[in-house]
Amino acid sequence: MAATPTLPPLIKESGQREVFCGLTSIVWLHRRMPDAFFLVVGSRTCAHLIQSAAGVMIFAEPRFGTAILGERDLAGLADANDELDRVVGDLLGRRPEIRTLFLVGSCPSEVIKLDLAKAAERLSQRMVGRVRVVNYSGSGIETTFTQGEDAALTALVPMLPASDAPQLLLVGTLADGVEERFLTLFERLGIGPVRSLPPRQSTELPPVGPGTRLLLAQPFLSDTVRALERRGARRIASPYPLGVEGSLAWMAAAAAAFDIDPIQLALVMDPLVERGRRALEPLRRQLEGKRLFLLPDSQLEIPLARFLHRECGMELVEVGTPYLDRQLMTEELALLPPGTQLSEGQDVERQLERVRASRPDLVVCGLGLANPLEAEGIATKWSIELVFSPIHGCDQAADLAELFARPLHRRELLQWN
Ligand code: SF4
Repeated sequence: MAATPTLPPLIKESGQREVFCGLTSIVWLHRRMPDAFFLVVGSRTCAHLIQSAAGVMIFAEPRFGTAILGERDLAGLADANDELDRVVGDLLGRRPEIRTLFLVGSCPSEVIKLDLAKAAERLSQRMVGRVRVVNYSGSGIETTFTQGEDAALTALVPMLPASDAPQLLLVGTLADGVEERFLTLFERLGIGPVRSLPPRQSTELPPVGPGTRLLLAQPFLSDTVRALERRGARRIASPYPLGVEGSLAWMAAAAAAFDIDPIQLALVMDPLVERGRRALEPLRRQLEGKRLFLLPDSQLEIPLARFLHRECGMELVEVGTPYLDRQLMTEELALLPPGTQLSEGQDVERQLERVRASRPDLVVCGLGLANPLEAEGIATKWSIELVFSPIHGCDQAADLAELFARPLHRRELLQWN
């Protein structure tokens, strides 16, 4: 009988939370699929959130918008479905290039129980052959911001064509340049075909079936993985491709799943590993021995903690995560130092008390907590930046470490002045 691995100590909390909602993920999803449009069905607050989160990055006509639920909708005095149909009709009339329309639910649309699944079905039938209408929820009532991507991808899974053919499916949004480098590496290893979810064009949905092996690029896709597994796909268990060690383990897991000779793996990966480790050396000197506290926000916390401890020498005070999917985290948890304090969920006041009591050198947290902590003299790193930056792969390991070295350096300069 296999021994049960010892789990690190875990604090479970539920209380007031300080995280962005799932609407935030529209910022990177709309860049990934330029032929898709994300229509938030929500309030003015939702519109402000999405505009301020993404507005600075828009250089062309935006590919997201908000159908505002007014007071009459919220009071049940108007038929919100009629309004929605009118907004969608106007939008698609003006923007014929849209191929997939995501109707994104919000807290207000959930509160008034607007049935967006039915609306998507109705609109899809009306637009058949022209636009596919998909719905998911980005509501912040019970979720954190990366779960927006999980919900969007889960909504796409029933639409994927069926195929039994062997293939590798990368799951989770990667920066285009990073994805291209990975595709080149898989090709050199002899693994193929390799497809991605989400695809670069929303109409080019990858097939799925019993021959599909899933390799997760992001750790926050629990529901997507379960939905793909229900379609017959099988997940390749692996750490996530953050840092040199994680990226090598990720490629090695894929190579093993496709019976690639370890000699071939070494031939392809050794030069990258060597280069990645060399680039990390000066950053390790800056980060080594520094004490790190990760508050739960992006769901990237555990792989980041593993990287920052094992490859950069940081000490882990506490590693928070919005929720702990033990299955998707097994390989990562095994790489954390024994006794690492984990916390799941959030009770923000209690967490801040632990931060103040432990006086870490760096806190990774959401935007809302960063300013108050900085004012108390504690250096912070915004976790949301990590989902907007190309951080995956051996080549990016030094850039990833630098994201954490920079605020420490800044704090040192402030202390000298
Ligand atoms: S979905 Fe909810 S949490 Fe997000 S902006 Fe709208 S009201 Fe706020």
